[in-house]
Amino acid sequence: MVFQPTCYDVMSHTSPTEKPALLGGTPVVSEGPPPWPISDAVIASVFMRLQSSGAWGKYHAEHTQELISTLQEQYQTEQVLLTSSGTAAVELALRGLNVGAEDEVILAAYEFKANFTNVALLGATPVLVDIDRESGQLDVDQVAAAFSARTKAILTSHLHGGKVDMVRLRSLADEHNIAIIEDCCQVSSCAKIDGCVAGSFGDVAVLSFGGSKILTSGRGGAVLTNRADIAQRIRLYNQRGNEAYPLSEMQAAVLVPQLNLLEERHQRRMVGAEFIREVTRNGACVRPFSQRPNTIPDYYKLGMWYDETLMDGLSRDQFCVAMRAEGIPIDSGFSSLHRTHARRRFRQVGELDNADYAHGAVVVLHHPFLLNGQQAANQFREALDKIQEHATILSAALIPQSESGRD
Ligand SMILES: *Cc1c(COP(=O)(O)O)cnc(C)c1O
Repeated sequence: MVFQPTCYDVMSHTSPTEKPALLGGTPVVSEGPPPWPISDAVIASVFMRLQSSGAWGKYHAEHTQELISTLQEQYQTEQVLLTSSGTAAVELALRGLNVGAEDEVILAAYEFKANFTNVALLGATPVLVDIDRESGQLDVDQVAAAFSARTKAILTSHLHGGKVDMVRLRSLADEHNIAIIEDCCQVSSCAKIDGCVAGSFGDVAVLSFGGSKILTSGRGGAVLTNRADIAQRIRLYNQRGNEAYPLSEMQAAVLVPQLNLLEERHQRRMVGAEFIREVTRNGACVRPFSQRPNTIPDYYKLGMWYDETLMDGLSRDQFCVAMRAEGIPIDSGFSSLHRTHARRRFRQVGELDNADYAHGAVVVLHHPFLLNGQQAANQFREALDKIQEHATILSAALIPQSESGRD
C-alpha cells in the first residue's frame, strides 16, 4: 500500500469561515465534480480505428474475443458470457440456476433494487436478511436463519467498497447445497478476498459495464461461471436464432484498453479512500464502511454512515445537496428493499434493524473523485468543515426533501 498518513490538520483549515457554495461562497472544488468516463487518447484512438475499419457494425470480432479471454484469466473462470447490462446478467444468472416460481432467493435487505426485481420477475420469493452495522454488507451470521426447504440461491453484492465474507458464506452454502450468485458490479478484478479475486466464490458471478461503473462501455455486463450446466442453460435461454442480450464488438473495443488501466486506477482509488478515512477519523459526521480483514477493496463508491447529530441536525439529503454544491460527488445510498416493497412481496428474517438504519444513513462518494488522492481528501474535509460551520443556517435554508420521493 502506497498510503502515507497525512497531517490534514495543517492542510484543511485554510478558510473554515468561508461560506458554503449554497450560501454564495466559492465551491471547494471550483471545476465541479470530476468527469466519468475520463476522456483520454487511448479511447479516442479506439473510436478512430473502429470508424475506419468498419468493425463498429460487428457483433463478434477480435475485441469481444479478447475481452472474454482477459476476463477468463482475471477471474480464473471457464465460461464468460457477455451481456447487454449487469441487470440482464443477474437475470441470466438466476435463470442459469433454474430459479422459478416455487423458489426462494436470499438477499440483503440493503441491496441494489433491480436484484430484488429480478428475483420477483422469475416468480421466486426474495428473502431479506439484515446487513452488518459496520461493514454495510450482508450479515452472513443471519443467513442460516433464512434457509427453508424452498431456498434455491443466495444473491449477494459487494457494495460501496465493502466485501461480503465470502469464505464463510461459501462454506455455509455448501453445507446446505445452495448456490451463490456473486454480484461484482461494484468492484473490479483488483478486489481480493483472502487472496482470491472477488467473483471467484460464487457458482456464478456477474459484472456491469454501465456508464458510471469502474469499467464502462456505456452499457454492458458479463456472467462468469465454471459450471457448464449454468452456462448451457443461459445459452439456451439467450439464443433465439440471435442473441437476446448481447454486448457488441464496439462496446468490447472500448473496454479492452481500460483493462490495462485498471490496476493503476485501482491503486489511486485505494490511496484516495485511505486519505478519506484519515480525514474523517475523529468525530466527523461521516464514517466510512469498515473493511473486512484479509481483503483488498475496490471502490465503485465509497459507502459511509452519516450521523446528522454530529451536523446540528442537517438531514442526510440536505448534507448531500450542500456537499454537491461544493463539487463533491456524494449521494444518498439505496433505499432498503423492505422499506420500498409491499410486505407480501418478500419474506424477511428478523427485524432488519441495520438495513433500517442504512435506509436513512448511508451516503456514497463516487469513484472518480477518489482518483485525486490526498488533494481530494483535503477538499472533502474542507467542505465538511464549511458545512459544519453553517449547518444550522443550511438546514433552515434547504427545504427538507421528502422520504417518499426517493426510491
Ligand atoms: C450497477 C449494478 C447492477 C446492474 O448493472 P447495470 O449494468 O446498470 O444494469 C447490479 N448490481 C449492482 C450492485 C450494481 O451496482
